[in-house]
Formats: sequence, C-alpha cells, structure tokens
Amino acid sequence: MGTGRLTIDLDAVQRNWRALAALAPGAEAGAVVKAGAYGLGLAPVATALARAGARSFFVAYAEEGAALRAALGPGPDIHVLTGHMEGDTETIRQARLIPALSSPDQVARHPEDLPFAVQLCTGMNRLGIREGDWTAVRAALPGTPALVMSHLACADEPDHPMNADQLAAFRRMTDGAGWRRSLAATGGILLGRDYHFDITRPGIGLYGGAPFAAAAPVVTLSLPVVQVRSISAGETVGYAAAWTAARPTRIATVAAGYADGLIRALSGRATLWHGMSPCTAVGRISMDLITVDITDLPDTPGALDILCPAQGIDALAGQAGTIGYEILTALGARYTRSYRQAS
Ligand SMILES: *Cc1c(COP(=O)(O)O)cnc(C)c1O
Repeated sequence: MGTGRLTIDLDAVQRNWRALAALAPGAEAGAVVKAGAYGLGLAPVATALARAGARSFFVAYAEEGAALRAALGPGPDIHVLTGHMEGDTETIRQARLIPALSSPDQVARHPEDLPFAVQLCTGMNRLGIREGDWTAVRAALPGTPALVMSHLACADEPDHPMNADQLAAFRRMTDGAGWRRSLAATGGILLGRDYHFDITRPGIGLYGGAPFAAAAPVVTLSLPVVQVRSISAGETVGYAAAWTAARPTRIATVAAGYADGLIRALSGRATLWHGMSPCTAVGRISMDLITVDITDLPDTPGALDILCPAQGIDALAGQAGTIGYEILTALGARYTRSYRQAS
C-alpha cells in the first residue's frame, strides 16, 4: 500500500459528542456533518453519531442532506444551513430536509406544506434574516418554524463583546415566541448556559478540534517512507533547490503532498513524527511527496506520522498558518481510510 493511511476513530467522535452534550445538559445535542463530516466521511461518521444518540443533524447544502438521508434512514431531523436555494424544492421534499430559511426570498420560495427552520442574522452578516426585516418576514412565514437559529461570529473568543451582543439580538428577535431555538456551535457550548437554548450545533469539537480543548483526538495520518538517501553538506533538496543541507543529512521521502491536503504553506514548517521523535519537513512540499530530515533518528522508519498523539489537527494547522477545520476538510481522497469502532 503506497498511499498514506488515514485512521478515523469513530469511538472518539462518539465520546466527543457525549462530552459536548454533557456541557449543555438542558439542550438537545445536534451534530454538524457538513462537508462530509468535515472531510472524515459523511455516512460512517453520521451513523456513528446516530448510534450515540444524535437525532438532529445539520449540513450546508440540500445535496448533502439527501446523501445524509440515504445514510441515516427516515428517523433523524436533517437541517440545511444554506436554507432553501433555487432548484432544491424537490430534493428538500423527497429527502424530507428542513431548510433554515435565511432571506425574505427563501421564505417566499418555501411551500407551506413542508417543514422549515429560520436562520436569523444577529450580526455576523453572512446569512440570515436581518433584524430590520424580521417583523415583516415573520408575518410572512409559511407556518410555524421547527427551529429558529443564528450563528456566533466570535464564539471561540469568550471575552469578545460580540458574543453578548449577538445573544441579546437573538433574544430580542425570538423571546416569547415559543419556538425551538439554537445559537451555539462548539464555541457557543463552551460560553455557558445562556447560549445553549434548546439545541446545540457542535461540529469541530466532535472531530477533535479547538476550541474544545478537552476533545479526544479523532484522526491519525501515517505516511509511508518511499525512499531514504544520505546527502552531503551543500547538496539541495526538492523544487527550486529551496533547502540546502548544512551537514551530512539523511532525507526520507514520504508519500503525500499538497494534492492530499498537506498544503504547500507547510514547506519548511511541518513536523512529522516517528513515535515521539520529531523530524522537520525540508524543501518544498510537492504534489505527491514530502522530504523530511531524519538524520537524528537512530533507525530508518517505515512511515512517519503527521497527525498522531504528539501532533493534533490544531498543531499542524498552526504550522500551516491555518485552522484545524481547514486541515480536516482538505484531507485528500487518495489516503487509505480506515474507521476504528468498538461500539
Ligand atoms: C459550521 C457551522 C456550525 C458548526 O460549527 P463548529 O465551530 O464546527 O462547531 C454550526 N452552525 C453553523 C451555522 C455553521 O455554519
């Protein structure tokens, strides 16, 4: 097997879901599985979450909702975060999706005989009905919403004043209506009970990412060593001869590159691991290969790890100048994937 081995621990996903549910004990814990469960595989991850007890799922697009319905069967609620987009009515009807209507146009488009949610804008200015439009739109809703939701822009910064501002706006727009409400994603769960309302929407925390610091790690990624060579001081490695050996050096070339989501910004920055021993990627990351300085290892490994107990998605994201979400969703299609599951 020449390609990297990506292992996804479904038991850890289930543990993280239960832990996030326990942090918001008054609310139902939903599960956000957009973008193929953040790149980890929609059907295996969502079915593991359903087995753990999740009954309300959230995806970005109606197409994802239809795939999720096929994986989960008729029981769970499936909400579509972009709402009811043009051309989606039959998909929404057939897969029994709940679009979060997010503009006056979407409210007008949605038929009266289909369930819906409402997405309110409380200040993020990405999606959702604005407070100034709400009185009129509310009167035009095609029935009673199954859920009214909004999204926090700064929930990963607990002291950011926008959190309280958005909470206040959400309450102004929904207090007293008697509808089921949802405001908190992973970060909002950690802000405390004022933010929990009736149902939470954790995503990244399920998959082991910040800001859920207590998350169990979910992914490991091990890259086979294709070749090892010894070079002299003064020789260069890789495209553009961008790295020059300062000492006699052993270079291991491993099987993954930017086509597999290990973005080129990791060039010269990524750390790979042989057990607990760190090794630095040297030279440019290329499409299929990464070159690593293994001079200080006592032996020649068969593989090096880039996501492992010593280095989680947020640590690797820091090396790449990005966030754990992007590391996960970029994980490529070429890896040999396996799912670990005891229960
Ligand atoms: C992606 C998303 C979530 C999940 O956010 P996490 O930070 O991954 O927990 C929840 N709600 C909305 C509207 C989203 O777009």
